[in-house]
Amino acid sequence: MTIAQAHRTAAKHHPRRIALFGGSFDPIHSGHLGVARAADRRFNFDEIHFIPASRPPHKLKQHLAPFPHRFAMVALGCAEHPHFVPSLAEAGEDFSGTQLHYSVDTVRYFRHAYHGDGDRIFFIIGADAFLDIPVWKEYEALLGLCDFIIANRPGIRPEALRLVIPPELTARPGGRKETAAPPSPVVAHLHCTTVYLLENVSNDVSATDIRRRAQRGQSVHGLVSSRVEEYILKQGLYR
Ligand code: ATP
Repeated sequence: MTIAQAHRTAAKHHPRRIALFGGSFDPIHSGHLGVARAADRRFNFDEIHFIPASRPPHKLKQHLAPFPHRFAMVALGCAEHPHFVPSLAEAGEDFSGTQLHYSVDTVRYFRHAYHGDGDRIFFIIGADAFLDIPVWKEYEALLGLCDFIIANRPGIRPEALRLVIPPELTARPGGRKETAAPPSPVVAHLHCTTVYLLENVSNDVSATDIRRRAQRGQSVHGLVSSRVEEYILKQGLYR
């Protein structure tokens, strides 16, 4: 626990709303930041942790920029957003980011770190990534560990998202209700958690497109924050 976290715990506890946003962030771009800002407006988070993945298990074959570069860009992308926290949760003990990490373990780690009364953990994920979740390690356990916020992407229908969730995990209709109106439409109520949908937040920026542009020597201005743009140029990334 950091000193800042210890002070916060020692002070009178107020329930914290913590969002986890994982990705390869190669690089972090305006699509990611737009989703995080929109989620923050709806759900009022205390902190949104941007977690660059070590070697995402589903991208083992793809070449990734080294972890330190991806982390540096996440840190630059988080600058000036008071709630956005660059996270080393998947950096590993030697901070190299070369060990394999699974989301279910990362969420358990955060649940351990934020276990005060009423603390809630939310997992932010794009709809394309959510459709792949059945191949993730212990995904059924993962769905029961924290709430999910799915950023919808063009062409993906909410029913398709619902189909990914095994019926035995969902609560009976009327079995679980929110006390207040939900901050966002609900895809499914599970026994202890809720899967929400964040609509109309995606833009069509992708990290693949940014890497391709940088490789061709084209500008990535406006697709990443100006600090990240400067970093990519100075480090000669993606050439
Ligand atoms: P790549 O093009 O390299 O596959 P990416 O742009 O999809 O990368 P990731 O770091 O893999 O970026 O994405 C992290 C998370 O952000 C995923 O859950 C993904 O669905 C989501 N995401 C990425 N781009 C967008 C976007 N433009 N709008 C909404 N969500 C996005």
